[in-house]
Amino acid sequence: MKKESQKILVTGGSGFVGKTLQKTQPTWEYISSSDCDLTDPKMTKELFSDLKPCAIVHLAARVGGIKDNVENQADFYYANTMMNTNVIHQAHCSGVERVLSSLSTCAFPDIVPSFPFTEEEFFNGPPTITNFAYGMTKRMLQVSSMAYRKQYGRNYSTFCPSNLYGPGDNFNKESSHFVAALVRKIASAKDGDVVELWGTGKPLRQQLYVDYLCDIIPILLKNHNSYMPIVVAPNENYSILEMAMFLMKHSGKDITISFNGKLDGQFRKDGCNRRLTEIIESFEFTKFKDGIKKTYNWYLENINE
Ligand code: NAP
Repeated sequence: MKKESQKILVTGGSGFVGKTLQKTQPTWEYISSSDCDLTDPKMTKELFSDLKPCAIVHLAARVGGIKDNVENQADFYYANTMMNTNVIHQAHCSGVERVLSSLSTCAFPDIVPSFPFTEEEFFNGPPTITNFAYGMTKRMLQVSSMAYRKQYGRNYSTFCPSNLYGPGDNFNKESSHFVAALVRKIASAKDGDVVELWGTGKPLRQQLYVDYLCDIIPILLKNHNSYMPIVVAPNENYSILEMAMFLMKHSGKDITISFNGKLDGQFRKDGCNRRLTEIIESFEFTKFKDGIKKTYNWYLENINE
């Protein structure tokens, strides 16, 4: 009798989420672009035929902050379209029954009738212009998951995390997201400095602590068998200014925050976590005030340049 594979393969294993997931799921198999370039269909096919996973958690993506997204739309479009298409199609061709893929709340429409938005509104209007290409590739990942589910009965489903942050984030000057950039800037500031941040400070953002997402990925892998994407976002929705003030206070430094007024992005983009709460049993999000302290302290101990 043919032995069923128990192997769970994670793409994007060297990334922020992938590395955090390895801490709680060390027996799963993790790959990066150096193991396989997922933009290449032949390599992707060979990888899946060799490894024969029973399930895939698809995290690999070209990811970046607002500036990176605005300046490199074509690169975001190409890399994500190719990776997502290859992963879904080659998983199907290799007989993989289960694929759980990460989208992003960035893929939701820029304009919705009211906040927080719900999963039903996913396709109702274009994503914001500042991450249009990235957002649309995530929508196509949703479309492909639905298509293989509908035509071939595959259990391919998706989840949409809000902005993520935490220890191990990408703190790179050019491509970091807001929280990581804030941590880097405040960590390197000296008393008396003015720390300049992008935008006006007014937009509201849900920030999800990465460990929390990694704790629920196994639950989603097991229980999220639906054609609907599922929003993974906390209840808290702070302004950029409020978040900056939390960290400034925690740092104990005598610094001033200023905003450059450029590239604010969407004013708000908070998603509703009601469907998530129906799937997961315990529901205790890491509070931003606690998560940002842990992230800042981790940065000081591990990276501070
Ligand atoms: P990340 O740190 O930028 O990691 C990206 C991962 O994708 C890396 O492992 C990278 O491998 C891999 N990858 C990139 N190009 C590849 C290619 N051509 N072939 C194979 N692998 C490739 O991303 P992350 O922050 O962990 O994000 C994980 C997932 O969460 C993504 O799907 C992202 O869209 C989603 N998400 C992230 C956030 C956030 O705030 N970070 C928010 C919402 C949703 P190498 O290291 O070898 O390049």
